[in-house]
Amino acid sequence: MAGQAPVDMTEADAANELMRLAREIAKHNKLYHAKDDPEITDQEFDALVRRNAELEEAFPHLVREDSPSKVVGHEIAASPLSKVTHEVRMMSLDNAFSPEEVEDWVSRVRRFLSLGEGEEVAITAEDKIDGLSCSLRYENGKLLRAATRGDGQVGEDVTPNVAQIPDIPQKLSGDVPEVFEIRGEVYMSKADFHALNAAQEEAGGKLFANPRNAAAGSLRQKDASVTAKRPLKFWAHGWGAASEVPGATQEEVVRKIEGWGVPVSPLFTRVHDVASMLAHYDRIGRERPDLPYEIDGVVYKVDRLDWQQRLGFVAKAPRWALAHKFPAEQAETTLEAINIQVGRTGKLTPVGRLAPVLVGGVTVTNVTLHNRDEIARLGVRPGDRVVVQRAGDVIPQLVDNLTRDVEREPFNFPDHCPECGSEAVAEEGEVDVRCTGGLICPAQRTERLKHFVSRGALDIDGLGEKTIDQFFALGWLESPADIFRLHQRRDAILALEGWQERSVDKLVDSIEARRAPDAARLLFGLGIRHVGAVTARDLMKHFHELPALRQAAEAARAGDEEAAASLTAIDGIGGAVVEALGDFFHEDHNKAVWDDILSEVTPPPYIVETKESPVSGKTVVFTGKLETMSRDEAKAQAERLGAKASGSVSAKTDLLVAGPGAGSKLKKAAELGIEVIDEAGWAEIVAQAG
Ligand SMILES: [Zn+2]
Repeated sequence: MAGQAPVDMTEADAANELMRLAREIAKHNKLYHAKDDPEITDQEFDALVRRNAELEEAFPHLVREDSPSKVVGHEIAASPLSKVTHEVRMMSLDNAFSPEEVEDWVSRVRRFLSLGEGEEVAITAEDKIDGLSCSLRYENGKLLRAATRGDGQVGEDVTPNVAQIPDIPQKLSGDVPEVFEIRGEVYMSKADFHALNAAQEEAGGKLFANPRNAAAGSLRQKDASVTAKRPLKFWAHGWGAASEVPGATQEEVVRKIEGWGVPVSPLFTRVHDVASMLAHYDRIGRERPDLPYEIDGVVYKVDRLDWQQRLGFVAKAPRWALAHKFPAEQAETTLEAINIQVGRTGKLTPVGRLAPVLVGGVTVTNVTLHNRDEIARLGVRPGDRVVVQRAGDVIPQLVDNLTRDVEREPFNFPDHCPECGSEAVAEEGEVDVRCTGGLICPAQRTERLKHFVSRGALDIDGLGEKTIDQFFALGWLESPADIFRLHQRRDAILALEGWQERSVDKLVDSIEARRAPDAARLLFGLGIRHVGAVTARDLMKHFHELPALRQAAEAARAGDEEAAASLTAIDGIGGAVVEALGDFFHEDHNKAVWDDILSEVTPPPYIVETKESPVSGKTVVFTGKLETMSRDEAKAQAERLGAKASGSVSAKTDLLVAGPGAGSKLKKAAELGIEVIDEAGWAEIVAQAG
C-alpha cells in the first residue's frame, strides 16, 4: 500500500489511517485464518501490516487498543472443534523483505546481546512452508493432544485429525522428555493440492485457492475421516512447553526431534554471518519452483538457546527469529486475447490468453479475469502489455496493465453467449453476465436436463444424472423434448450395457406418465431464472395455461405496460421475474424448445381445486410451531380450501392459526379482534372440507 510518508502526515490523518488499517487487517486476518478463504494475496496483506507498523513507529502514542501489531492470527471462528489453551503461547514472526532488513535484524540482535566484534552469531535458516501451524503435545513419548495455533493462546483440538497424518507419530522413538510439545506446520504438497482440486471440481465441490487453504480446510474437520482422505504432511520447526529441553542450540533440538521420528525441513541449515544467510535465501529462492511444496520465505533463528532466552519477545513475536519473505513472483507479457468461457450455470467468465511467460518457474499461458468489472478496472484489451503474478497462491493473477494509456479499442464484453449465441445479460446490481439460453446452451444443457426431470419439476423416475450424461453424450438429448422421444430409441437403449427389457420399459413408462404434466412443474422445469417452484405456481394460478403466460411475458418485454402490470399484480411476482421471463421468450432458441416441448406434452389447464369451505375467500395466517405439519403444508391446505395464506397479520386477516410459541402476531390479532384457533381447530376445518 503506497501511503503518504509519515513525516508529511498530520496526527489526525495518521489516526484515521491506523483505524482503517486495524479494520482492514482484522477482516483479512479473519478470512485467512478462520475461514481459509483469503481475498488478497499474502504480499498485499504483508504490505498492510508494514504500513501499520510504519505509522505506529512514527506515531507511537496513536497505537490502538485493537492494533494489528498486538494480535497474532485471528481469534478462531465459531467452530465445532473444541478449544485448547496453549501452555506456551504460539508466536508469529516478524517479517523482512530486503537484505538490508535482514542485516538490521542481525545488528539489533548483536546490540541487544552487547556482543563484541569478534563474537559470532550462529543462525539457523530453513524454508518457511505455507501451511497451518500446529502444536503436538507428547507426554512420555505418546501423542496426547494436537492443537492448531488459533489466536496464539487458544487453538482448536485436532487430535483425531492429526492421527490421520502419517508424518506425525503416535509415539516418539528414543529418549524423549516427559512433556514435550513439538511445533510445526501441517501442509499439502503442490501435486496433492492439484489432485484434490481436480477431484473437488469433478464432484462439484469447493475449490481451494492454494495449498495452505486446502491443508487448513482438510485438517479443521469435525469428521476426522474427511482428514484421512486428504494427503496431509507435517514437519517440525520448534517446540512449546517442555519438561526439559534436550540441547543448548536450536539446531541440536531440531535434530533431536528429527531423531524421534518427526520430519523437519530438508533445507534446514546453520550459518554464521549475514552473507551466508542471504546466500542460503537465494539458493532456496532458486529451488523454490521445483520444490514439491509451496514456501513463502526463509526463517532465521538465533541458534543459541540461552541467547534466545535473553532476547525474549516483543509484542507478538520473538526477537530471536525473523521471516525473510520472498517477493511476489511477477513477469511481464502480452495479453493476446480475451476468451469467454461459459460455466455450467451460464456464467460468462473472461479468460486472458497470454504469450507464454515463466513466472516463478511455471509457464503461465492464461489467467482468469473474473468478470466484466475486473476487465474495466484493469482497462485491459488484447495487445496490452501486462504484469502477471504468482504469489503464494498457485492461481496466477493479472495485476497491472502497463499500456493502458495506449490508444486502442476497449474490450467489448460480449452481450451474446459464445457457445450458443443467446443473449447474455447481467442483472441489475450483479457483476456476472449470464447466458439466457439455458435450454439450448451446450455449456448448460445437461445441468438443465437434470433439473427438468428432477423431483420438483417433471419428476421422471429412472432418468438419473448418469443416464442423462450418457444419453446426452450419445446425442439423444439435444433438448428436453427429446426425453419424450426416447421410446423410439428402445433398441438402442437395450443395446447399452446395464439395460434390460424391464428397465427400459420402466423408463419409458415413467416418461409416458408425464405426457400431461402439471403446468407449474413444467414451467419450473424450464429453469428460467427467478422462476422457482413457488413462483411457477403463482404464475400458473393466475394464467392457468402456459400460452397465456408466454403472451403476457412477450407483450411486457415489448413494452406493453398493461401486460407488465398484469404480471407484477400477481402476488409474489416482482420486476426481476418479469424481466427474466421476457429475456427467456426473447430468444428464438428458447421459443423453439418451448414449442417442441408443448408438441410432446399437454399440460391440463392449471386450476387450483378450491373446495367450498368455511374459509373460502378468507385470509389465513399461521404462526407459532405447528405440530403435525410443516408451515408449507399448512399453507397449501389453506390454498386448497380456497383461502389465501398470508405471512403477516393485518386488518385484512380473517383467521389466525396459532401454535405454541406464537408471539407478536397473536398479540396483534387479539388487538384487531381477529378470530384465533389452534392447530387442532384448523385440522377440523380441513377434515370437514374433506
Ligand atoms: Zn449459451
